[in-house]
Amino acid sequence: MPLYDYRCDACDKQFELLVRSADVPTCPACGTPDIKRLISSIAPAGKAKAVAGSMRAAAAREGHLSNFSRSGR
Ligand SMILES: [Zn+2]
Repeated sequence: MPLYDYRCDACDKQFELLVRSADVPTCPACGTPDIKRLISSIAPAGKAKAVAGSMRAAAAREGHLSNFSRSGR
């Protein structure tokens, strides 16, 4: 049974739901079926960006960033 992230269009609440194919998911806060499923690939992409940012910070700390910027020019 897949677990999905949803956001309610009516009250803007975000929540996770286990959804069976026969179910019509509704907002647990206000009960409207007018909700949108969030694309789960957004989270890993954001995480990858955060990892890249921390690697960049580590490189800057160790003085490697000058090598990167020289090759970038
Ligand atoms: Zn709602």
